[in-house]
Amino acid sequence: MARILIVEDNPANLELAAYLLGAAGHQTFAARDGDEGLRAVADLRPDVVLCDLQMPKVDGYELLRRLRADPRVGATPVVAITAFSMPGDRERALQAGFDGYLSKPIEPETFVADVERLLSAAARPGGAARA
Ligand code: MN
Repeated sequence: MARILIVEDNPANLELAAYLLGAAGHQTFAARDGDEGLRAVADLRPDVVLCDLQMPKVDGYELLRRLRADPRVGATPVVAITAFSMPGDRERALQAGFDGYLSKPIEPETFVADVERLLSAAARPGGAARA
């Protein structure tokens, strides 16, 4: 069981991700934009953050930058979730320092396994999901 914070401005995606992870026995928390997400990370200290890249005001890249700059929570694994599945997006996200990358739409059959794989990779020394 992991404590998972989902930061996503699209209510349908947020609900689906929370439902799938909750059904698999994980505890989920929700934030609807980057500012709320950063506050939630500081308050809740989740095991992993799943973060939409495209959000109003504070987007996923800005959330990651601010989180990494905060020594209290800077080591928290953050997985990017994005709908822009353009060639190069994955590399750009990993280069920005995300610990993993998942593309939308969320696939109910594989989503939980993908998150769990990234979680265990991020928990290993060196953060293998970066490679
Ligand atoms: Mn979005």
